[in-house]
Amino acid sequence: MALIGLSSWACSEPAVHTGTILHSEVLEVVDSLPAFTKSELLGQFNPAEHTGFARVPDAWTDKNDIYLRSEVIEAYRQMRDAAMRDGVGLLIRSATRNFDYQKGIWERKWVRPRYMGWQAVDKARDILTYSAMPGASRHHWGTDIDLNSFENEWFESDQGATLYAWLQQHASTFGFHQIYDDKSTGRTGYELERWHWSYLPTAGPMLDAFNRAVQTSDLTAAPFSGAETADSLRVLSDFVNGVHVPPR
Ligand SMILES: [Zn+2]
Repeated sequence: MALIGLSSWACSEPAVHTGTILHSEVLEVVDSLPAFTKSELLGQFNPAEHTGFARVPDAWTDKNDIYLRSEVIEAYRQMRDAAMRDGVGLLIRSATRNFDYQKGIWERKWVRPRYMGWQAVDKARDILTYSAMPGASRHHWGTDIDLNSFENEWFESDQGATLYAWLQQHASTFGFHQIYDDKSTGRTGYELERWHWSYLPTAGPMLDAFNRAVQTSDLTAAPFSGAETADSLRVLSDFVNGVHVPPR
């Protein structure tokens, strides 16, 4: 199984001078770098059995048995507590979704009666307005969450606007960012999602790893309806990479 290291910087060789190692501290840093398997980048795993994941506490969500990476749980705990102190109630509506789960969402949309007679590429493009192809969802990574409501308009209601303003002001302090903005930044891909927040300390390196490890052929080879359209719809460049992130 391929392991994709996260090192984006080069670690120089220790300086050796007449048999004496100078600056020996440079030897210690490389081993601590995390790595991701190609399978987990593509969502082909069970988060309940992954040692890097933990169950989302029942009080935080209206779902049963959903999971996030352990460090995401801890960061979210702090954000949730801070929000609560300010009178803002965050609710997780969706967390990790693996390939099979995402495939279920995709296939249910694929057979919508209104798509009768549509070409595969037009169906796929329409579904991609808000839903990722299986294999290409950030929800596979255990770093991304959907909060409170799947309707952008809700975030303009009294309660929703207060909550959204709180997130815009404070979420980045805890590592969470709204990556699917209104596209005024020139971003491509999915439409505005005020509910979708990504834990970038982990998701940023995961996107780097994904871009190094995953080819369009990994998506088109997967068993789901319309997989063959991934190339012409530029799913990797326009959708997986169609995110607004602050400069690192
Ligand atoms: Zn989402």
